Amino acid sequence: MSRQRFTIDERLAFWEVYDRKCIHCQNPILELSNLRIDHLLPERLADQKSKDELYDLLVRYSLPNNYNIFDYYNLVASCSKCNGMKAGKTGLTINSVKLEIASSNAPKIVK
Ligand SMILES: [Zn+2]
Repeated sequence: MSRQRFTIDERLAFWEVYDRKCIHCQNPILELSNLRIDHLLPERLADQKSKDELYDLLVRYSLPNNYNIFDYYNLVASCSKCNGMKAGKTGLTINSVKLEIASSNAPKIVK
């Protein structure tokens, strides 16, 4: 369950910047209502009790200690199907390529 809320402008920006495609399966996201803004490192890692798990991931992906799970560089456009399958899991769906895409797209989201 997502805690972070996004404005309609943010949702539109993610849809466009990611060419209306899901970063995980590459299928087109035909309608804005099917867009999910996905946290590559899942939101639950922001909880204090997950700090060891978060630290391991930051080391594994060479991310800075002050990495912010709620910032645009951790967010990507996903279809509802992939987002539903991923939920709070880590591993398969995170990789350095997606992290790089997200960080290079982040400045385009901020308009
Ligand atoms: Zn997908």
